[in-house]
Amino acid sequence: MTTYDPNNIFAKIIRGEMPCTKVHEDDVAFAFMDIMPRADGHVLVIPKAAARNILDIAPADLAALMPSVQKVAKAVKAGMKADGITLQQFSEPAGGQVVFHIHFHVLPRWDGIALRPHTGAMEKPEILEAHAAKIRAALADVR
Ligand code: AMP
Repeated sequence: MTTYDPNNIFAKIIRGEMPCTKVHEDDVAFAFMDIMPRADGHVLVIPKAAARNILDIAPADLAALMPSVQKVAKAVKAGMKADGITLQQFSEPAGGQVVFHIHFHVLPRWDGIALRPHTGAMEKPEILEAHAAKIRAALADVR
């Protein structure tokens, strides 16, 4: 299926039908901790608009989302005291996509530290919350 499924897990998270560790929400975007983080502080940023991936999102919806991606990236870098950020977006199974509501991975990076495997180990909820608290605090200072 290559159409948008409104019952995908991230659509349920936006509607509050599934739990998540939220770090940010505004009119167009929603950001929450990845449950299988490739790095401590790994956040997913998604649009509230329905789109499967980069191949079908309306250009206006993508443009509206990107300021929130940038804001979260700045907060992740500051809150996690990272040296840099890696941004990832996977489209379609061949591209590595597993959840079919478009999302940007915001990954804090530290010099000399490799990413853990994609969709690897589940993190403990209390660890996700601790990282989210640092990122939320940093978000308050992002301009
Ligand atoms: P991909 O579609 O390949 O970009 O990967 C989906 C990402 O979503 C992976 O990094 C998963 O760890 C993450 N993920 C899957 N289910 C959840 C969930 N319920 N809450 C947070 N992250 C999730």
